[in-house]
Amino acid sequence: MAIWQNYHLAQTVSDALQALADAPGEARLVAGGTDFLLDLQQGRHPPVHTLVDITQISEMNTLEMRQGQLYIGAARPLNQIVDSPLVYLHARALNESAGLIGGPQVRNTATLGGNVAHALPAGDGTISLLALDAQAEIASASGRRRVPVSELFLGPGRSALDPRRELLVGFYLPAVQPGQASAFRRVMRPQGVAIAILNMAVWLERWQDRIQRVRISIGPAGPVPLRLKETEAVLNNQKPDEHVLTQAVEALLSEAHFRTSPHRATAQYRQRIAATLLHETLTLAWQRTYDHPQAQFTGE
Ligand SMILES: Cc1cc2nc3c(=O)[nH]c(=O)nc-3n(C[C@H](O)[C@H](O)[C@H](O)COP(=O)(O)OP(=O)(O)OC[C@H]3O[C@@H](n4cnc5c(N)ncnc54)[C@H](O)[C@@H]3O)c2cc1C
Repeated sequence: MAIWQNYHLAQTVSDALQALADAPGEARLVAGGTDFLLDLQQGRHPPVHTLVDITQISEMNTLEMRQGQLYIGAARPLNQIVDSPLVYLHARALNESAGLIGGPQVRNTATLGGNVAHALPAGDGTISLLALDAQAEIASASGRRRVPVSELFLGPGRSALDPRRELLVGFYLPAVQPGQASAFRRVMRPQGVAIAILNMAVWLERWQDRIQRVRISIGPAGPVPLRLKETEAVLNNQKPDEHVLTQAVEALLSEAHFRTSPHRATAQYRQRIAATLLHETLTLAWQRTYDHPQAQFTGE
């Protein structure tokens, strides 16, 4: 049996939304297809009537500065996100996480929008977007709206988007300022290709010898990608010395909910490496606050 009957190559956002609405049976968006086409081929999702391909929509492929924010189109392939000097400058954690997703073949087609819409608790791009405080632009027949990326998740593999009526157009990230930096780290099984045992992104702002503000995200540590707000509260306005870091690890272990997954790791192992991951990722972001280059890129 065919896994789809109709393939629509959308040219604009409204064309894509119309094609979703007009389909006589189930219709789904497809970008790189590295998640969804496998689900269809391997029977984890039943055949659909219409696939709406969004990879040719120009505004969804754009990467540029817009009114002082970094805009990344949701259908921009990950390899082009990794190669972008703008992403390297303003969103180093995203540069690092996108560069670790799959291998070169996957990154040539996989997109950031697909990573977010797939809604896995440890999607590498998603975890970085949370720490970077990204907003998602969502389009539907009733117009466009921006929501924090953190509000897009309902549970493992369940996004808050209506797959028949809504589409992620792109993401807005704050531009980096002097004293700010970010970092991403993950732990994988040596033979692992898809989902991390544990990943983490840190964004922070330093003032002299203190962490003025910090955002930390981690996965998988619950049903949705998680911001560690209690851990952040321990670190805010503090010198990152051993005593504060010990308190931060305690907060992390009380607010993150690690579980045992049969193919990847036990909950106990995740608890142990979480402390190291926090130490490493925080230290890396902290060191980077000292070598902020002038924000002079305005194009790609
Ligand atoms: C070999 C392999 C290795 C991988 N390694 C990793 C890894 O290391 N880390 C990691 O995080 N992931 C990994 N993945 C998963 C996958 O590659 C990523 O999640 C990728 O970013 C998905 O993007 P896509 O464009 O291919 O999504 P698609 O498969 O096209 O779509 C995924 C879902 O999102 C929806 N969707 C897509 N775009 C939009 C949009 N703009 N608006 C609304 N809904 C949308 C689709 O309808 C579908 O439900 C791997 C996958 C493979 C096959």
